[in-house]
Amino acid sequence: MNLDDLPIRDDLRGKSPYGAPQIEVPVLLNTNENPYPPSKSLVDDLAEEVRRTAGGLNRYPDRDALELRADLADFLGHGLRAEQVWAANGSNEVLQQILQAFGGHGRTALGFEPSYSMHPIITGGTSTEWVDGLREDDFTLDAARAVAAVERHRPDIVFLTSPNNPTGTALPLETIRRVLAAAPGMVVVDEAYAEFRREGVPSALSLLPEHPRLIVTRTMSKAFAMAGTRLGYLAAHPAVVEALLLVRLPYHLSTLTQTAARVALRHREELLGTVDALRRSRDETVTWLRAQGLTVADSDANFVLFGRFPDRRAVWEKLLERGVLIREVGPPEWLRVSIGTDEEMAAFRAALEGVL
Ligand code: PMP
Repeated sequence: MNLDDLPIRDDLRGKSPYGAPQIEVPVLLNTNENPYPPSKSLVDDLAEEVRRTAGGLNRYPDRDALELRADLADFLGHGLRAEQVWAANGSNEVLQQILQAFGGHGRTALGFEPSYSMHPIITGGTSTEWVDGLREDDFTLDAARAVAAVERHRPDIVFLTSPNNPTGTALPLETIRRVLAAAPGMVVVDEAYAEFRREGVPSALSLLPEHPRLIVTRTMSKAFAMAGTRLGYLAAHPAVVEALLLVRLPYHLSTLTQTAARVALRHREELLGTVDALRRSRDETVTWLRAQGLTVADSDANFVLFGRFPDRRAVWEKLLERGVLIREVGPPEWLRVSIGTDEEMAAFRAALEGVL
């Protein structure tokens, strides 16, 4: 028997799952992780906390993760309180819960592609219709055209990703404000890469007090160097959190996850201590790629989109042969490289020089 023989939903037939390759190679620059592992003192602290909580694992976790949400609110600042913060297993689960509560059959979500591939996948998974609003050739979002797309489609949910994956493009607050003014439903600003923004690019968190239909999502998977923990979160009006309680599974966030996330937040200085170096390396990578005569998108994230290669698959494969895994993603002819350690970036540059 194969998949087609199963009585799955008609709208899932012929679809492909999310599929960043997980291959064992020396230089992994394909999923925008922070390349620096936790220090021994963090690992020791984590092990100690897990030992302390393990004795209570016969009990369900705190269903509402109240202490973790208070810690996250404190970390985010902007005067946020625990009831304005919600957490789940990665921001992917946060996004799924948003779609479950505000999308669904007969409803529409609008995004601006190229953008994060999971937005349309989660939209489809919740039987919500996906509409693509498209970006300009340089991957920016023209505010007037974005507003026109909102007015034309009247979506229940708008996705704005800032900085955007896979292009690295950050949005001016004014664009977000104008979309919020035009949108009839919820506006999700996916800020998975917020900590990597260049100077002077503000976060949408500052818009929350005036905009009860705004949701800002964040993650500990990127700058926070905790991708393996699976902890994503959002900030929004408390009523939005109440809506998500209607769809979340009870006890969705395990005691171990909550413990690990709280330990990580205590060690925030160490974990976020690598961000400045990664941003510097990102800027150097942009400059270096341009010096090779390549076209490179401006980036406010921990990755760089570059091209253009009539046969990008061939370039991707030749880099892989040299032990460097990057990502074949985004518009045709472009490739994306995540920012790794200095040694990994040197290996990437050497491999790409060999390929070019
Ligand atoms: N949003 C964006 C824009 C992303 O790039 C990613 C990860 N690639 C996510 C959300 C989800 O990350 P996580 O589930 O690990 O929080």
